[in-house]
Amino acid sequence: MELLKNRITKDGKVIGSDVLKVDSFLNHQIDVKLFKEIGKEFKKRFDKKEITKILTIESSGIGIACITAQYFDVPVVFAKKHAGTNMDKDSFQSEVFSFTKGKSYNVRVSKKYILPEDKVLIIDDFLANANAASGLIDIINQADAKVVGVGIVIEKGFQQGRKIIEDQNIQLESLAIIESMRDGKIVFKN
Ligand code: 5GP
Repeated sequence: MELLKNRITKDGKVIGSDVLKVDSFLNHQIDVKLFKEIGKEFKKRFDKKEITKILTIESSGIGIACITAQYFDVPVVFAKKHAGTNMDKDSFQSEVFSFTKGKSYNVRVSKKYILPEDKVLIIDDFLANANAASGLIDIINQADAKVVGVGIVIEKGFQQGRKIIEDQNIQLESLAIIESMRDGKIVFKN
């Protein structure tokens, strides 16, 4: 997706050797016009699939998932990282290792919101080593629902995520794939 790649080149900042900061349009300030184009692109790529729900993880995935859901006309469910007192006790749970924080945490989804008849599209902002996506796949499997695909805004193609998802025969669509980020220079694959 050219519009997205151009924006990453213009505003992305490489931190160390493997973290990309895109706070000015994706992870802190949100460019809603760009998100609309991202949503339309996901709709194009998964148009042939039957989808009844979009699943993401709080917090950065929520905005992208909500705008994307408008094009599929389905609800969004987000996995919660913090189980407050108002969280349903009856929930699916999975442990996720956070690439950016370097520690594990549990994510939870109430059993009310993923049902065995659901056909679920997973949406997230980044794909690194597929820990977040694997946690969401685990929750969908626990619910006996079907994983229809994984839609990612920015994939770091030099990490292991793609292999982990494709090895499970799940359709993976990433709108920008970064091949390398050496010396702060972002090189795209597609
Ligand atoms: P994974 O679970 O695939 O290893 O990492 C993906 C998750 O970690 C995403 O949900 C995203 O929030 C975060 N993440 C991984 N790599 C990056 C990165 O380079 N930049 C940002 N902003 N977030 C990342």
